[in-house]
Amino acid sequence: MQSTLYFYGGAGAVTGSNFLLDTGGAKFLIDCGLRQGMEEEKNWEPFQYNPADISHLLVTHAHLDHIGRIPRLVRQGFRGKIISTKATLALAAPMLADALAITTHSAERSGREPLYEDADISAALGLWSGISYHEKVALPDGVELELFDAGHILGSAMVQLSREGRSIVFTGDIGGGNSPLLPPTEAVGAPAYLVMESTYGDRARPEDAERRERLEDIIEDSVRRGGTLLIPAFSTERTQDLMYEIRTLMVEKRVPSVPVFLDSPLAEKITAAFVANPEYFSPAMRTRVEGGEKIFDFPELHFVASTEASQNIHKTTGPKIILAGSGMSSGGRVLAHERVYLPDPDSTLLVVGYQAAGTLGRQLIEGAKNLKLHKESIPVRAKVATLYGYSAHRDGEGLLEFANKAGQKIEEIFAVHGEPAAAGFLVQRIRDYLGVKASAPEAGDRATINL
Ligand SMILES: [Zn+2]
Repeated sequence: MQSTLYFYGGAGAVTGSNFLLDTGGAKFLIDCGLRQGMEEEKNWEPFQYNPADISHLLVTHAHLDHIGRIPRLVRQGFRGKIISTKATLALAAPMLADALAITTHSAERSGREPLYEDADISAALGLWSGISYHEKVALPDGVELELFDAGHILGSAMVQLSREGRSIVFTGDIGGGNSPLLPPTEAVGAPAYLVMESTYGDRARPEDAERRERLEDIIEDSVRRGGTLLIPAFSTERTQDLMYEIRTLMVEKRVPSVPVFLDSPLAEKITAAFVANPEYFSPAMRTRVEGGEKIFDFPELHFVASTEASQNIHKTTGPKIILAGSGMSSGGRVLAHERVYLPDPDSTLLVVGYQAAGTLGRQLIEGAKNLKLHKESIPVRAKVATLYGYSAHRDGEGLLEFANKAGQKIEEIFAVHGEPAAAGFLVQRIRDYLGVKASAPEAGDRATINL
């Protein structure tokens, strides 16, 4: 049988994940994410399909570049069912509420209508159900759904759709196998088609093994210089991984005891959702959490709720650590801290994740000496350090290894969620090393597949 696969978003770009599989008798959507960075205004463009025609929306994980336009989809007529893991559903509510604030603010700034409203989020959550990994769900037109653990963030899944013994797997984002909290990425069966991420397709991450030592060194150096260690962190997974690691370093007295501020009400809610879903942790971590260990609590940690309390952090003299969103410095409370600490030569800004083109974070890692923050020019005198060992993504080698493992029956691989250079590099290596047909589709492309 033949199906058509449409690449509407997250193709030729990292963000805005959105794929449609038309099996002839039914239409399935995989992810409906927000476009971030330079692509932001495209969120307001109409969907290139009729949302009312979609039978099911299958969600890989709760990052906004995979779920952030779901309420928009509902607002524009989607009435089908939404399925993800239970943890993804638990994380989606606070994530979407946060996205509402960000997108509404950006709509006001540019004089556009809001992307969606609170009622659209409630309506989306009303259509949403959570399932477990490996629970098989019968979908229309003879299609069967199964979710595999992607090991990327809590509850992240690879979506497998099968029909008559053939299958396609959408990987969503694939974990780096380095989270202190999560199990490693599961092996998928033997799909005929793989739609796989390629965010770091052209990069190697050599520092994995020593990442905790590197974090220890960065904290020690920052404390010695008496400055502030500012970490722009994604609220989901990266923040919890870092909180757990900093807690371990402080409990084991490997770094000096200094105040740690988690300045993100969203991250606090997400952390609560993590603790409420222990079955999604790695087995060892699950045992500790279920045994009552508070893996994110330590005396130095302060959760910062109000904006006023956030501003008061600046009055805390002496060395300290601040974790604040957003992870790419594209908004959120981290900006107010950057304004204060980037001009300070004793402070350190630590970048721990992917920085999309056009974001402040990208400018910082590219060595910008001046930044424009809310139309104000800010000199960058702080040390800018990077630590990709906590990246929730695989590097190029890891992606190739994943494709190789999944590859016994693979007929074609589509590299997505990467900038063109990264996706193109991965495609070339897949062709060269695995001898498998591979391409890097662009937004708007389609492919006919035998499924
Ligand atoms: Zn992700």
